[in-house]
Amino acid sequence: MSFEITILGSSSATPTLNRNPSSQVVTIYDRYFLVDCGEGAQMQMRKYKIKFAKINHIFISHLHGDHILGLPGFLSSLHLMNRSNDLHLYCHEPLKEILEVQFKHSETYLKFNIVYHFLNKAQSEIIYEDDKVLVETIILNHRIPCCGFIFREKPAMLSIRKDKIEAYNILPQDIPNIKRGNDYITEQGKVIPCKELTYPPKEPQSYAYCSDTLYDESYAAKLMGIKLLYHEATFLHDMIKRAKETYHTTAKQAAEMAEKCKVQKLLIGHFSARYHDLEPLLHEARQTFPQTYLAKEGEVFSLN
Ligand SMILES: [Zn+2]
Ligand SMILES: [Zn+2]
Repeated sequence: MSFEITILGSSSATPTLNRNPSSQVVTIYDRYFLVDCGEGAQMQMRKYKIKFAKINHIFISHLHGDHILGLPGFLSSLHLMNRSNDLHLYCHEPLKEILEVQFKHSETYLKFNIVYHFLNKAQSEIIYEDDKVLVETIILNHRIPCCGFIFREKPAMLSIRKDKIEAYNILPQDIPNIKRGNDYITEQGKVIPCKELTYPPKEPQSYAYCSDTLYDESYAAKLMGIKLLYHEATFLHDMIKRAKETYHTTAKQAAEMAEKCKVQKLLIGHFSARYHDLEPLLHEARQTFPQTYLAKEGEVFSLN
């Protein structure tokens, strides 16, 4: 599969016996992006057979412990495994100090270089781009600076209809131009529309990760038309007061956001440790947005 999300953890604040804190791996065309790194994330990677060496980019939404406490351990393991490749870390600036104190006092001199990319606290921006994938931030509304991330597959080039190429005797050197969406002009000056020569491209996939945040319409525009939305749903709606106090969202509100933004599917996560059974959260969200699923550990969600 070319675009997948593997849930490593979906608990908020404290780990429970069945749930680890927030962490997931987004895989797009063999690029492995680690998103948040709560306590135990590396054990979960082992369990779900994610190769450590494949992770080259780590995105950290914010600096609460349930999103970062697995990071010193994971980085130490990479060091012990003799990693030498650069590791790119996208995070708010103080994380550098947090990690450096840890390494300084344990006299750990990492065998690889961490390339820090500090996130803008106030404005969303594109933070990663290559030929197939683009990652941008979303400014969320949490007690401390917090960013969500949108992973977008870039639109594919058009694919050529071989039968038409033969029919019009189109030369190989003219094909890239048609694939980019241009019409073809024959030697006689006749214009053959690109549409006739190509198949429509596969629709690009997109995934948005929104944790942690108060329900806030300010970031809704960024989520418009996203195919799969992960949105935190820390509480049931009867806990709305607590959700507001702690800058979190209820399952009902997460579903309202999904509906408002016309996403295709909603994944809810970041569940409070108070819920042993997650079905009531799922049930509450589905009343507003039927295409809702629980971000349970070990589950893999494919976008294709
Ligand atoms: Zn959290
Ligand atoms: Zn938080």
